[in-house]
Amino acid sequence: RVWSGGGRSRQSDQHRRIGRERADLGRIPESTIHEIRNRADIVSLVSRYVELKQAGRNWKGLCPFHNEKTPSFNVNSDRQIFHCFGCQEGGDVIGFLMKHEGLSFPEATRTLAGELGIDIPDEVDGTDAGLSARIFEANQLAQELYREALRTPEGKIARDYLIARGFDGAAADEFGIGFAPARWDAVASRLAKHRIKGAVGAEAGLLAERKSGKGHYDRLRGRLTFPIEDVRGRVIGFGGRALEADQEPKYLNTPESPVFHKRQAFYGYPAALEPIRRAGRVILCEGYFDRIAFARAGMGEALATCGTALTAEHGAQLRRRTREVVLVFDGDQ
Ligand code: ZN
Repeated sequence: RVWSGGGRSRQSDQHRRIGRERADLGRIPESTIHEIRNRADIVSLVSRYVELKQAGRNWKGLCPFHNEKTPSFNVNSDRQIFHCFGCQEGGDVIGFLMKHEGLSFPEATRTLAGELGIDIPDEVDGTDAGLSARIFEANQLAQELYREALRTPEGKIARDYLIARGFDGAAADEFGIGFAPARWDAVASRLAKHRIKGAVGAEAGLLAERKSGKGHYDRLRGRLTFPIEDVRGRVIGFGGRALEADQEPKYLNTPESPVFHKRQAFYGYPAALEPIRRAGRVILCEGYFDRIAFARAGMGEALATCGTALTAEHGAQLRRRTREVVLVFDGDQ
């Protein structure tokens, strides 16, 4: 294999747009909410999570909100609503996303708006746009930098490594793989250029504070990078793999942050959501490359834990999505 293709935004611009979205704080105009409700299609949204069969003018499936063997979950395409006769859950397209993904109203609204290409202006009232929003922005900037760096002369070491593992540029793009330059200030100066404070980069886990207390430096250096995203496609953290034999540790992740909770995070979102639903199962593995290998072999339903043990929080999340979990962990103790 040679390094060919690539350079294009992976999956779709949609995820990138969602990732770059700034704040959930600004108020969303009524007219925009109305437009979302008009343009979103509840049948296709619900179909991402529930296998629906047409029954007259309705669609039916097994309720994702309670445990059942015969379908009592109905989706009405004309009225754009869902209702479960078993547990009485019901609502519209925004309500479904809120309940299923545990999102707030503005989060669900902005997610749908992003997918529909509806712009929601940030109504930032001159004050801070919220720490989480700035962390997401910092992570997105780092992701763009890492992906660019993979194509620069200094990224050759990473490209050579990927080629040896059977990747070309297009495959690297598909999974958002990048390269953290072997410098102390690549991310730090990119953030500064976009007027994001070093302290925010440190909160995001991208930067660490210098011992002198003056300034910050890049945490991931000279490593292959994997973006860890939430179900909405926002980058919450990064995994970094060593590229030189003497580089320790082999894997270094960005630390916990206000948006990165390792006890809940999976690597593989949001790409795995639809394959999980279609396959009716999750394949759970340990590493970034494992997850990618499954996806490249046609098993997109694989997720990986992010450098932690499998937790009860992970289990609760999987339980909402599927009833079959195949564990493919490493063979160690
Ligand atoms: Zn139900």
